[in-house]
Amino acid sequence: NPIPMAGFPHHQLDSYLGKIIRKGFRAAVCEQVEDPKEAKGLVKREVTRVVTPGTVTDDGLLDPRASNYLAAVIGDRDKRGVERVGLAWAELSTGRFFALSAPRRELADHLARIAPSECLVSEDESWSDDELGVEFTTGRPSWAFGSDSSDKTLLKHFAVKSLEGFGFHDDDRPAIRAAGAVLDYLQETQKASLAHIERLTPYRLGQTLEIDQATRRSLEISRTLRDGGREGSLLSMIDRTATSMGSRTLADWLSNPLTDIEAIDARLDAVAELRAAARLRENLRDRLKGVYDLERLVARVTTGRASPRDLRYIGRSLAGLPSFKESLAARDSRLLTALDDQIDTCPQLADLLDTALGDDCPLHARDGGFIRGGFHEELDRLRELAAGGKQWIADYQALEAERIGVPKLKVGFNKVFGYYIELTNAQRDNVPAEYIRKQTLKNAERFITPELKEYEEQVVSADERANQLEYDVFLELRAAVQASARALQRSALALAQLDVLLSLAELAAARNYCRPQLVNEPTLEIVDGRHPVLDILEPEGTFVPNDCHAQAGDSMVLLITGPNMAGKSTYIRQVALITIMAQMGGFTPAKSAVIGVADRVFARVGASDELARGQSTFMVEMTETARILNTATERSLVILDEIGRGTSTYDGVSLAWAIVEHIHDEVGCRTLFATHYHELTDLAHSLAAVTNLNVSVKEWEDNVVFLHKIVGGAADKSYGIHVARLAGVPRSVNERAKQILAQLEAEHLDEENRPKIGATGKQRPRSDIQLTLFAPYDHPVVERLKSIDLNQLTPLDAIQVLKELQDEVREDVVAKPR
Ligand code: ADP
Repeated sequence: NPIPMAGFPHHQLDSYLGKIIRKGFRAAVCEQVEDPKEAKGLVKREVTRVVTPGTVTDDGLLDPRASNYLAAVIGDRDKRGVERVGLAWAELSTGRFFALSAPRRELADHLARIAPSECLVSEDESWSDDELGVEFTTGRPSWAFGSDSSDKTLLKHFAVKSLEGFGFHDDDRPAIRAAGAVLDYLQETQKASLAHIERLTPYRLGQTLEIDQATRRSLEISRTLRDGGREGSLLSMIDRTATSMGSRTLADWLSNPLTDIEAIDARLDAVAELRAAARLRENLRDRLKGVYDLERLVARVTTGRASPRDLRYIGRSLAGLPSFKESLAARDSRLLTALDDQIDTCPQLADLLDTALGDDCPLHARDGGFIRGGFHEELDRLRELAAGGKQWIADYQALEAERIGVPKLKVGFNKVFGYYIELTNAQRDNVPAEYIRKQTLKNAERFITPELKEYEEQVVSADERANQLEYDVFLELRAAVQASARALQRSALALAQLDVLLSLAELAAARNYCRPQLVNEPTLEIVDGRHPVLDILEPEGTFVPNDCHAQAGDSMVLLITGPNMAGKSTYIRQVALITIMAQMGGFTPAKSAVIGVADRVFARVGASDELARGQSTFMVEMTETARILNTATERSLVILDEIGRGTSTYDGVSLAWAIVEHIHDEVGCRTLFATHYHELTDLAHSLAAVTNLNVSVKEWEDNVVFLHKIVGGAADKSYGIHVARLAGVPRSVNERAKQILAQLEAEHLDEENRPKIGATGKQRPRSDIQLTLFAPYDHPVVERLKSIDLNQLTPLDAIQVLKELQDEVREDVVAKPR
């Protein structure tokens, strides 16, 4: 097991670390831990930290707009033996730390929401890729997840006697075990103070709109389906934040929309106020651009990695805080005034940093030269001394040049010989007797003199002492920042939230969004709704807005039919996205919107669009559909796009039919079902709360024109053949297809031109026959045939058996209506 090892100049650490971490390695950083001057023999070295994908804090390695979470997962069982998991996640670069316990089947959804960069698992457990879906997993000894050791680690770190104060209960054992493993790993790898991790927050389900993994993917909320990147996702389209803290917080809000109307309204009030105040909004956003990433800067201070430049940035950000407070104090909405309360300007610290640090601070404290003159008396004295010595040497060079008659005489400096006078071979005749030869080069010789040595002492030692002193002053400043870390974090979070509210207000103003009204009843009343991404991407004014009315009683299930490319997917997605945006506390792309708060949103796409993963795509489609049917509640919102498409037409129509019936009868939640099976429109006849909608299409000279307008009623026919013509399929093929269609329709439509499947209504399968989806059932006649022993059968018996079998089959057909 060879371990690659490299040494390089310390200031290049960042660029090397970047390469290593991006490849998914962990890197142990080993440094000299004593002053080489004072070391006896070999200089002592130690591993000073271990850097892993989930624990980077270095600026160059982090995406400023994305959170970087380290997670840990542990399996557990509750008292009744049901499988559960504990999940904890922390961000070292900001100090956020959460944990939850959940049923095992929900794990993938939580991890999809958190999207950790690295996940710790116990070496004793194995997890499938489907369950974790995390690129980097790190095995840890099982004791790290132990109940007792986790307790110990957490209680000691937070200096508390119990975790109940944070809101954890007995049921939260798995969560605490996972949290213990996270903290233990951070302590082991960082070997630094983790004081900025101040609390462990229990993540409670029910306070947020649940969006499972498949829905997140299919709605492209934070990442696109195409390449999994942020660009093109809903998040990237609506992000108008001015700071990276704000950008991360917006991603967090969008991933965790709320369910509490009061909390949503508090955000909406603030957005409304900022939307109305254009000048103030612009002004605040401008000022936010001058604020650095306080959250991550403070974390670097507490882990002991902050540079002089980091402190300078903290100082500059602090200097801007009073003006934010001033602007916020005069606001009406509760949330904005609460943010004002949360901002602590730390005036003494701001003053200290401002007077101490120069404008141009280096990345490495040892480089020196960043403490302002006048801040520290002794430092000033040493600097003067060093400078005085340097001046004397400059004067000495001029004097000697004159005295020995060599105008080009140079006084140089290197680390081995200190200051020296250098004369070229051509000037050898001018060398005075008192010069002491120190070194011979190819074309020159170097000399020293007693006077030069005397001043050298002064310069070098003053320089060295000044540097050391400056470093000590830097450490003091860093400690002063650390002492205010908690206040700084709170201010940072307040600014981040302000940034998000401003971003939402800016978007609302720029795109002419409306304030949604959130209600408890499960309804939807959207007038002139638009798809938030297409609305921005398409040329101004070309996106066709559409209404959506869903109500208990008559329009819970909306069936949208129409040809491919008509705009069905776009429509149903926009309804889901508008709901998510509203519950996040944002304005919505519509003229008006009344949104009944949803507890869960589900979105599923039929198989042929779904090319991911190695499983049978139809199996995936059905597994995901099964989950909706089993977990949706009457407060959920379900979006189904061409479900049933992944199998043969008859299978597909039948499944889609049965699924709609089940949702209608058993779940009763708002459902938008887009389908090109127009046979389904018949459901509206038998199910009270099913409403047909279609996307209007104009026929024009044997072609179709898509109007993208949703109207009431069923699509009168499937335009597939027209679409094929549009796509350039030869006319002869098209004509032939029309003939075949006419024939098929003659066979499968009843007198009223309705598909025959709807005509018989709902039937229950015969109880003695087990219908299964994937294998043909064994009919009793088949069973009997199989069991006959031909060797024992006389010809007469055979005739008798044959008659009985025939009777049985005939009876069966008569008993079944169809
Ligand atoms: P379907 O699901 O019916 O096959 P899509 O929803 O995928 O159709 O829409 C096809 C294309 O039509 C989209 O990519 C978009 O460019 C355009 N489109 C859809 N809805 C609208 C609309 N309301 N206004 C303008 N263009 C639309």
